[in-house]
Amino acid sequence: MQIYKVGGAVRDRLLGKPVTDIDWVVVGATTEEMLAKGFRPVGADFPVFLHPKSGEEYALARTERKSGRGYGGFTFHASTEVTLEEDLIRRDLTINAMAEDDQQNLTDPYHGQRDLEARLLRHVSPAFAEDPLRVLRVARFAARYAGLGFTVAPETLELMRQLSESGELEALTAERSWKEISRALMEDQPQVFIEVLRECGALKVLMPEVDALFGVPQPEAHHPEIDTGVHTLSVLEQAAQHKQSLTVRWACLLHDLGKGLTPEEEWPRHIAHEHKGLKLIKAVNERFKAPKDCQELALLVGEYHTHGHRALELKPSTLLELLQSFDVYRRPQRFEEFIAACEMDARGRKGLEQRSYPQADYLRGAANAARTVAVQPLLEKGFKGPELGEAIKRERLKVLKTYKEKA
Ligand code: ATP
Ligand code: MG
Repeated sequence: MQIYKVGGAVRDRLLGKPVTDIDWVVVGATTEEMLAKGFRPVGADFPVFLHPKSGEEYALARTERKSGRGYGGFTFHASTEVTLEEDLIRRDLTINAMAEDDQQNLTDPYHGQRDLEARLLRHVSPAFAEDPLRVLRVARFAARYAGLGFTVAPETLELMRQLSESGELEALTAERSWKEISRALMEDQPQVFIEVLRECGALKVLMPEVDALFGVPQPEAHHPEIDTGVHTLSVLEQAAQHKQSLTVRWACLLHDLGKGLTPEEEWPRHIAHEHKGLKLIKAVNERFKAPKDCQELALLVGEYHTHGHRALELKPSTLLELLQSFDVYRRPQRFEEFIAACEMDARGRKGLEQRSYPQADYLRGAANAARTVAVQPLLEKGFKGPELGEAIKRERLKVLKTYKEKA
């Protein structure tokens, strides 16, 4: 049997990028031979094994054929007859379809190295169109390598467009989509992921609520970039530049969905967009089965981001309501993430990226002030049950009044 490094490990070494996980392909071996060498099978009916020591993935060379909709709709064929070239041709991009032996001799039948130099994300063969997940993968790689100057080859974008129009994207499971979306949001330029999806028509299918923001104007005085879609991309860009968490990035992407619902007669104003957007945010959250912390923060940021921006003008009672809504006493981290998302929103405006955001420290200070209210003295005064709750609130309100006066 011959063993080769394939995929990302080869690509990233040639790009001079750190290689984290290594995928291997094994040519000329049977399942029995792999098991005899101590490899552990990954799935019951998939010719992929884990190395007994390193735990890295070793896949038998295989060919694939589409036999139905979605990912389950693949039949594959692995045998000792399948060649390295046959295995590589089923891969998505030319830069991912190179193999290397232990002497670093490159096998590159589909000119991945040429495309690396040309900074092109190009599909290997027309079979690309057989798996709709590849639309998301290419957009994710575009987000990752945009900084190196990579773009999607026009003919690949055309295939992605056809896939998006074919209805195949709807066959993707929430789990597979979320895995790509969440990884893409954590790349250096997540806004490129959304841009590429939009360009090929996939955004309209996957997240019509985000797609609808493009072409929707906002008041120029607050939003020099005007377009709500452009603003959303900038917010995402800021979130990546400030190394925000996935939770914050997800909230950034969805914070303004309500603006897509404003009737045109009301443009460029968006009255109550915060509240109107909630049902859209909920729908997107559920469509991709986003993790609970992502879902929760997206809804809270959607509802309260303008409160964040107006923090210094809020009445103490409104400030208290905000803190209560976030349960800042038990969930300090979630409020920090809210503040971060608000700040990214404010910075994601044309020409205002460097402007300071004093609201952040003001909100932190308010939360700290409210936290200083101790429960014990109130218990000692004999407050119980709902009365105790009311008494705590009154004390917090007092503290916040003083905080606002001093600020
Ligand atoms: P990463 O750095 O994100 O791990 P990678 O290229 O190694 O990038 P993997 O998801 O680890 O990506 O997949 C390993 C290889 O398997 C890819 O380089 C590609 O050749 C192939 N591959 C993975 N998923 C697909 C797919 N859906 N369609 C075609 N080829 C795929
Ligand atoms: Mg990999």
